Amino acid sequence: MTSLALGVPTIRRDPAQIPPTHGRPDVAGLVDRFGREARDLRVSITEKCSLRCTYCMPEAGLPPIARDDLLTATEIGRLVGIAVRDLGVRDIRFTGGEPLMRNDLVEIIRRSSEAADGASISMTTNAIGLDKRVGALVAAGLTRINISLDTVDRDHFARLTRRDRLPSVFAGITAAKAAGLTPLKINAVLMRDTLDGAVDLLEWSIANGVRLRFIEQMPLDADEAWARDNMIDAAELLDVLGSRFTLTSPTREDPSSPAEEWIVDGGPATVGVIASVTRSFCAACDRTRLTAEGTVRSCLFGDDETDLRGLMRGGASDELIADWWRAAMWGKQAGHGMERADFVRPLRSMGAIGG
Ligand code: SAM
Ligand code: SF4
Repeated sequence: MTSLALGVPTIRRDPAQIPPTHGRPDVAGLVDRFGREARDLRVSITEKCSLRCTYCMPEAGLPPIARDDLLTATEIGRLVGIAVRDLGVRDIRFTGGEPLMRNDLVEIIRRSSEAADGASISMTTNAIGLDKRVGALVAAGLTRINISLDTVDRDHFARLTRRDRLPSVFAGITAAKAAGLTPLKINAVLMRDTLDGAVDLLEWSIANGVRLRFIEQMPLDADEAWARDNMIDAAELLDVLGSRFTLTSPTREDPSSPAEEWIVDGGPATVGVIASVTRSFCAACDRTRLTAEGTVRSCLFGDDETDLRGLMRGGASDELIADWWRAAMWGKQAGHGMERADFVRPLRSMGAIGG
């Protein structure tokens, strides 16, 4: 039986079935055919968002997910427990859509943190409304946070996100720092429209003690406007930043970290560059993803999904769910394939996967 969720066909699994092995080794972790092991879980919890960033969402927002199709806080906690206890996951990150759009976010964090047995619990957010909830989120077990901010120019921000909400983002950043969620990381997607503001954004980040990372835009915008010839790549960004700062000694925090960190003006400030398109880090990828509807997606660019929600609601044991998750990871593709002439965009856009 198949079902349609945000345009993506997902295969429902019969809980009585044992997942196929296809040469998969009998190990506990989430290993794939290319020698990688997933230890980092991204959990999308909603398709809703308070912004409409042009590189991500359509103007009207994503088609709503029916309430019954969303994973509940209890189900998320159960899957996080399976991921950590049975599959060796060490880092859990909530994303979306915008995680702060879920009224039960505190309960999601609390249940996940109880199940996570010491694994880190973090969130990627646009920070709108964060100032009012950050205390409760930290008390529930949130340990780290990444905030997305592409420009510190209010007009640019309003154009790029189709919402005039920059002051709310600043309030969220201030509150996150006051709540001890430091070092705070800021993610900025590179767009031609905001490239001029990249120097200002880095200056602002250094002055405010936050760690900025620029990300190359990927072909995951719902509007399908991305074009390789028009995207800003890491080399162009480094030229622009190099006109104002001296950037030296690029390093990676660890081999699976997507960000190359450059020292700014002799340090201690740094700036990260995530060259997802031009310097792919797929060979070292250690991610597995859960969509808001409870399917496992092994790669941002792989439309093959495994429906864990259906298994859970059909009465499957933790052991069987873990085994389906392992089978999904074994099928993970080698890389995004953007460099190939026959590259096809995935059916889901970024906001429907969880970045
Ligand atoms: N709403 C939250 C936020 O913006 O941080 C979480 C979800 S958002 C999809 C997660 C991350 O994906 C953000 O840092 C965003 O900038 C990034 N993103 C969205 N669309 C992208 C694209 N087409 N290419 C690269 N990164 C993208
Ligand atoms: Fe919303 Fe985040 Fe996508 Fe922007 S990047 S539209 S804030 S989900």
